[in-house]
Amino acid sequence: MSNVKAYAAKSATRDLEPFELDRREPTAEDVEIEILYCGVCHSDIHTVKNDWKNAKYPSVPGHEIIGRVTKTGENATNFKEGQLVGVGCMVDSCQTCSACKDNLEQYCENGATFTYNSEDKHLGGHTFGGYSEKVVVDKKFVLNIPENLDVKAVAPLLCAGITTWSPLQQWNVKKGDKVGVIGLGGLGHMGVKLANAMGAHVVMITTSASKTEDAKDLGAHEVLISKDQKQMAQHQNSFDFLLNTIPVGHDVNPYISLLKRDATMVLVGAIEPLDPIHGGGLVGGRKRLAGSLIGGIKETQEMLDFCGEHNIVSDVEMIDIQNINNAYDRMIKSDVKYRFVIDMKSLKNNQ
Ligand SMILES: [Zn+2]
Ligand SMILES: [Zn+2]
Repeated sequence: MSNVKAYAAKSATRDLEPFELDRREPTAEDVEIEILYCGVCHSDIHTVKNDWKNAKYPSVPGHEIIGRVTKTGENATNFKEGQLVGVGCMVDSCQTCSACKDNLEQYCENGATFTYNSEDKHLGGHTFGGYSEKVVVDKKFVLNIPENLDVKAVAPLLCAGITTWSPLQQWNVKKGDKVGVIGLGGLGHMGVKLANAMGAHVVMITTSASKTEDAKDLGAHEVLISKDQKQMAQHQNSFDFLLNTIPVGHDVNPYISLLKRDATMVLVGAIEPLDPIHGGGLVGGRKRLAGSLIGGIKETQEMLDFCGEHNIVSDVEMIDIQNINNAYDRMIKSDVKYRFVIDMKSLKNNQ
């Protein structure tokens, strides 16, 4: 085992603070990674603050990990020392259930092992995420990172990127489709970039007119202000696909009215109760409401390769780990464009 520096929250009411944890010696199947950068996701905040009532402490979040390989097990022959790699939201799954066989480990029927806050099958206790110096991960859950991209800005692709990529693929978004991305945050800004690169006509749907210029800079062709009844009426029954990134419960009915007949709105942000849904809105146009959780390892690699080809990264603001609590406060106020990424070198400043 190796003892590494990290940052942890010791309870739901405490700030994150310096912490040390053990990483296992790599098994034959494992890759040991020195972490360079780690993105900061809203799930990190929900976990450390125990919003989902399942947090385990001490909690070390972080599931947008970029690093370099420092050691490989004898069977991890696809990876070599010094290689640039990534780790996203999962570090293991059963590999035998129907979801795993379909390369959809995120829906593992026996429960995927998430990068943090899951049962640690090797050391006991629970898994610790990327706010740390090193991580040891089964080779099947390690991703190749295209070297041509701005590496620090790749980190958020591992959660925000795949979360928006997977539904765009699953629902076959294609050139010329009218795609609405609802909400301009970490997820929404990736949804706009990816849908644009797929050739869709992208409409950013937001409550605030102040986000218009930013949305267009990211690749939106139009901006629809959802509070403006007249604009909403003009876009009724016109969308081929809606990607809904709103991270809290809300009223989906006005958005359903925007869908064409047979079109689908996919929720990727809200995992809590929604306001009551009017059945007539779905029945009237044979419309569909669906959900989607991150993505499998195979499609995560496909997304990273696509981003390498199209030169797509996240818009990031870099921070030192010592500023993580302030970054959380700012994220809660949506005061970041659009993702914080921690420069893990800063962890070395903690003695
Ligand atoms: Zn995440
Ligand atoms: Zn499984």
